[in-house]
Amino acid sequence: MLLWINNSLTPQEIQERLMSKDSEFQKEIIGYFESMHQGEFIDTTLEEVKCYLNAVEKDPEYAPPTMVLPDPAPDCKCLECQGDGECHIVHSWWEKFRTRVNDILACTNIHQCKNVWLEKCKARFPREYRTETAVDQEGHIFFRHMEPNLNTITSALTYMLGCNTDVSNLQSGTSIKAVLMYITDYITKILSSYIVYFK
Ligand SMILES: [Zn+2]
Ligand SMILES: [Zn+2]
Repeated sequence: MLLWINNSLTPQEIQERLMSKDSEFQKEIIGYFESMHQGEFIDTTLEEVKCYLNAVEKDPEYAPPTMVLPDPAPDCKCLECQGDGECHIVHSWWEKFRTRVNDILACTNIHQCKNVWLEKCKARFPREYRTETAVDQEGHIFFRHMEPNLNTITSALTYMLGCNTDVSNLQSGTSIKAVLMYITDYITKILSSYIVYFK
């Protein structure tokens, strides 16, 4: 799935504004990108999620999140929801959201390298560990990424789909070309294996 946001700035325009030291723009755009995709669990770590899963999986009633449909967000009309208060129904739904996303990520999105004999992992793992998003002098953005063996994901998409997903922010010509190559390679996989076979 490719989302093209109409009337949005081009990667070139974003890079130019980042280089012009427009600090307000930089803060806003980084906040937007970070809300869209992430390279870590929500408020927890892989070790904590594994510990939690080891405990709950002992329960015979336990159903893995990949086998269960997600609960829709509550359409609560209580007094708290109409004002600024914190409603326990909405609060507990967000708790479930976080748990489901973290469990799915731990079960389906952690990279286990099958190319151990190669010097470098073909899928570029482990990813560079960063606690904060940074912008260099040429306007390149290096996103926060705190789980080296996790790719980048959008939590709402993980929650909905309940399976392995990969979300890339196409903010440079290089990343757009890399994704085009990857997708073309993927969708012609059967064809290319025939080509190799008949050579
Ligand atoms: Zn409510
Ligand atoms: Zn690998």
